[in-house]
Amino acid sequence: MDLGLKGRVAIVAAASKGLGRAIATELAKEGCAVAICARTAADLERTAQEIGAIAGREIFWRALDVTNADGVSDFVAAVEKKFGRIDICVTNTGGPPSKKFMEITLEEWRTAVNLVLLSSVYFAREVLPRMQRRRWGRLLTITSISVKQPIDGLMLSNSLRAGVTGMAKTLANEFGADGITVNNVCPGYTLTDRLTELFEKRAQDAGVAYDEILKQSTANVPIGRFARPEELAALVAFLASERASSINGTTIAVDGGSTKGLL
Ligand code: NAP
Repeated sequence: MDLGLKGRVAIVAAASKGLGRAIATELAKEGCAVAICARTAADLERTAQEIGAIAGREIFWRALDVTNADGVSDFVAAVEKKFGRIDICVTNTGGPPSKKFMEITLEEWRTAVNLVLLSSVYFAREVLPRMQRRRWGRLLTITSISVKQPIDGLMLSNSLRAGVTGMAKTLANEFGADGITVNNVCPGYTLTDRLTELFEKRAQDAGVAYDEILKQSTANVPIGRFARPEELAALVAFLASERASSINGTTIAVDGGSTKGLL
């Protein structure tokens, strides 16, 4: 299927590793001009070179903390200068700490609001007017299945990703008439380096083998395994494409069926 992504210009935030990296790779392979950011310049440069080698095209990169509104503004302007426009923007960031309500300080709440919610606001404010002028655009947020089924102990993620989802749904209504779609993609457990490290630590703490932890953790996943980053990236590429022009305001999980709700 030709997704019609050739020549589109895409920003993927928090993309030196994990899900962001997989999404940037997929979009570049589909023919998009891709720009990526993350905080650590060395990782980002290496990732840009690796994706560039796979896709056979230059990947634009800039070291940036997505909680810095001015930094996001400058980055989006630099991408527009480099590639002429912005068609697709995928918001993403690192996860907030896993804590229960009474363990979280007010400062940690403020930091997490900046990281999870406001970082998406910063990108949306920059890219939507540009997309509106060209009457075409795709804004995609990477959140978590916690927006469909809150996960015990993840108070910050459960609370703030719901805010991102509410923002995106409302933007879908506001900007649909401009040819812009806005959708949320919700990873369940996905085998990124971060998850592997988490499970290695769990295995070490419990004194059991890594494979045993993996087996226990996948017991509730109907497909019997965790998702791979490129599986989530494939959905993002589809939603970013011409083919998905009537899919707007949705919140789709990529979790092997582990969310127990109907929708
Ligand atoms: P990851 O492998 O740890 O990658 C995170 C990426 O984000 C890195 O490139 C990191 O680079 C960048 N980043 C982190 N904080 C940033 C910031 N403030 N500004 C700019 N870039 C930043 O994580 P992942 O597994 O891909 O997860 C991505 C998101 O999906 C996270 O929010 C995570 O909580 C969520 N999620 C993941 C899973 C899963 O199973 N993997 C499931 C549900 C939800 P730098 O550190 O260099 O900035």
